[in-house]
Amino acid sequence: MIEKLKMDNTQLDNKTNAQSKALRRFFAKRVTNQVRLLLDVWRLTNQENWSHQRLKDLLSANEKLIRYAKHFEEDSHLHLAEEIHHLLVAINKDKVAPSSDQLYRLTDLIQTLSETALRKGDFEGDIGSVITPKKPIYIALNDQKQGCKLARQLEFFGFRTEYCSTLEAFNTQMLKRHPAAIVMDVNLNQEAHLGINVIQQVQDRVENTIPTIFYSENDGDIFTRLKACRAGGIHFHSEDLEMGLVVEEVEAATQNSPASPLRILVIEDSETQAFAIQTILNNAGMISLIITDPMLVLDSLETFQPEIIIMDMYMPRCTGMEVANVIRQQEKYVSIPIIYLSAEEDIEKQLHAMSHGGDEFLQKPIKASHLISTLRTKGERARALISLMVRDSLTGLLNHTRILQALDKEILRAQANKTPLCFAMLDIDHFKNINDSYGHPVGDRVIKNLALLLKQRLRKSDAIGRYGGEEFAIVLSNTNLADAVRICDSIREHFSQFRHPIEGSEFQVTFSCGVVQLDDDNGEKLTIIADEALYDAKHNGRNQVCSPSLSEQDSSSH
Ligand code: GH3
Ligand code: MG
Ligand code: MG
Ligand code: MG
Repeated sequence: MIEKLKMDNTQLDNKTNAQSKALRRFFAKRVTNQVRLLLDVWRLTNQENWSHQRLKDLLSANEKLIRYAKHFEEDSHLHLAEEIHHLLVAINKDKVAPSSDQLYRLTDLIQTLSETALRKGDFEGDIGSVITPKKPIYIALNDQKQGCKLARQLEFFGFRTEYCSTLEAFNTQMLKRHPAAIVMDVNLNQEAHLGINVIQQVQDRVENTIPTIFYSENDGDIFTRLKACRAGGIHFHSEDLEMGLVVEEVEAATQNSPASPLRILVIEDSETQAFAIQTILNNAGMISLIITDPMLVLDSLETFQPEIIIMDMYMPRCTGMEVANVIRQQEKYVSIPIIYLSAEEDIEKQLHAMSHGGDEFLQKPIKASHLISTLRTKGERARALISLMVRDSLTGLLNHTRILQALDKEILRAQANKTPLCFAMLDIDHFKNINDSYGHPVGDRVIKNLALLLKQRLRKSDAIGRYGGEEFAIVLSNTNLADAVRICDSIREHFSQFRHPIEGSEFQVTFSCGVVQLDDDNGEKLTIIADEALYDAKHNGRNQVCSPSLSEQDSSSH
């Protein structure tokens, strides 16, 4: 009798345990959603030069996060949110834009917060499910079959979608909620240009333009295309709708990482002028470092890693041109834009300065808005250039060299912080057959799809690279082997279920994967061990994740 009671109790315990686990998982989502909301407000705050209203919104969004995190015992979020709170209160008290230090610290905290919010490994069960972005994508296409197919594809990559076949259905959705992006038929309800007109009206009402992708059954003429552009259309497809491309465009338009503030180094000998420039930059949410002694420039470049340099022309001990020369003589600083900001009026001298590594010449006194817009444009271009240098053009992932650099960096960090680190290598199975059967462009699409899936399913903090043709590499920081295997296996499973469309038919593809964890003495051999594990996965029949067993890892490190 007592035995039986005991058993019942354990069963009951198990059940309540499972229930409370499920509940916890459910509520954890609430905290994650609040983090996302906070990230949205943060983005707006930076765009709108720290207006008082935005700061208040930020404070209240963060207070709500603190409440949720406390309630659902999410300690890591709680600590971050509390620190953010102290900073925001201090900024609010001063009633001016945050100082560089404050902005720097805040950005750091927000970045960490966004990484933890996008950490899929925290959740048991379906690892990818928490990644669905907060806002849905609306698809308003006349052709229902096409619309639903696109919806299915987007959902596969973690987007939430609503399909509306008519204007009326679309309007109903718009009343409920604004979407993250729209795919719109140019001739909705089969009425010429109705789709464009509707979007134009939507954009007139909303605060931030909703990225819209237009589709037209027939080839759009210049007037139609122009009209679509003016209504905020970011892409225009006609005739055959290439689903994979649309998914990619939606992904690019809805990236939900907070844009990190520009980092500006100001080299200016006059303290008053330097201070004036810094105030303008702070107000625009940019992070700045001032040096009034040009002899400090090399140290500042190394520690601050600026994205743009604002340079005075005349300073004691040396001129701005000379400093620019010194900077440009170093390979790694060749592409940082240098903007001269000087009272010099002589156009000859301005041109001379420009010929010494300058990218722009701005004359003092300068209007704040003019300076800021110049910096934004230069900064955007500089970031795009860097991205070209470090990213693979087909997939947008890190290229071979950069993923290995990322691995080296993370190894050092893991060793210093004593945190676990894993490295995974993926290789698509029988990829040659796909090229042979369907052609190279279809093969390229498969590679892009896998890249997209990896981006959607991994954390922001994980580095993902295209290692070679159909091979990928992932650095999973702060993750132990069991979790890394679980994550990779879930992606493997998901990918294997995807039906790649080709005219009139579909096909499925799988990949194999090898995962290893960093230990005390396998640092340099991580890629080799991962490659061996990948080979095992291939050898054992493909479509699986392998990792060296502990004993093997031991023996291979001896
Ligand atoms: P396994 O399961 O053993 O990995 O078989 P596999 O056919 O995938 O392996 P193999 O290494 O023999 O072939 C890889 C093929 O991938 C050969 C190459 O033509 C193709 N490939 C490499 N890069 C690209 C690319 O960028 N696009 C396309 N479409 N194909 C590529
Ligand atoms: Mg000067
Ligand atoms: Mg290969
Ligand atoms: Mg292969």
